[in-house]
Amino acid sequence: MSESLEKRKEHITQLKKKYSVYNEILNFYEKVLEEQEAIELTLNVNPVETSKDLKALQIKEGFPLINKGDFILDIPSSVILFESLCQIGKNATDKMREDINVIEDAIKDGFLDLAKLLERHYDKTYIDKILEDIEIDEAVLNFLIHMSIKPFLDANVEKLKDQVDFKNWLRGYCPICGSFPHMSELKGEGQRFFACSFCGFEWPSERLKCPFCENKDHESLHYFYEEGKEIYRVDVCDKCKQYIKTVDSCKLDYEPDLNLEDIATIHLDILASEKGFKRPVPNLWGT
Ligand SMILES: [Zn+2]
Ligand SMILES: [Zn+2]
Repeated sequence: MSESLEKRKEHITQLKKKYSVYNEILNFYEKVLEEQEAIELTLNVNPVETSKDLKALQIKEGFPLINKGDFILDIPSSVILFESLCQIGKNATDKMREDINVIEDAIKDGFLDLAKLLERHYDKTYIDKILEDIEIDEAVLNFLIHMSIKPFLDANVEKLKDQVDFKNWLRGYCPICGSFPHMSELKGEGQRFFACSFCGFEWPSERLKCPFCENKDHESLHYFYEEGKEIYRVDVCDKCKQYIKTVDSCKLDYEPDLNLEDIATIHLDILASEKGFKRPVPNLWGT
């Protein structure tokens, strides 16, 4: 087991003690990480070809480095991962078991081509058509797709992240793939970063800013947190009525896995929604 997985498992154990309400979901996520690591060990992704000058110019103009469809994936390995995630997903919740049974039947009956589905992971029209045909929960399908390609997305990001200087990007969407962030993080001296909901890349941002409408007016940007739990806060924007959760890593003694922190703070999503704010990017579980 890699050091990073070992640390994340330790962290999951701590979170389960602290928030027993999330035990089921955290147990499942832990198994997902184990399956992903088993695949990562055999991974060999060639870097996406980029011309450095052209890309630097694109970045300057606000264009992301590549499109979601340009990530280089190992489809046969993603298919294997998808199938193993289905196996563990069946034991996670009743709802997931029902949906996965439908997916497996659709594959068996030839309605669903798994390799094609994973190749077209970025194609919403294609995925909506599948959802129309097999009528399962969109979040379950999206979760299985995303988690099955995630090790390859990570490998691409690893190759791309040093190709261009992203320090002056300062936009609300990801400089690598153009997606909105799912979380933000305060690191080091309190520098704020946004974490991409698709490829996981983290890029620096101004401290006070709504990533979704680029509002920087301090009168209409606020945050709230639970008393005594200042590590997690919810940054809300009165202008677009949307929010993003922020983890203050300066107050943590470990490097956070933001997907994990996102799960362990679902209660803050509920609070934000009660206050009338929307989350534009769903978490892994579609909530
Ligand atoms: Zn991205
Ligand atoms: Zn806003």
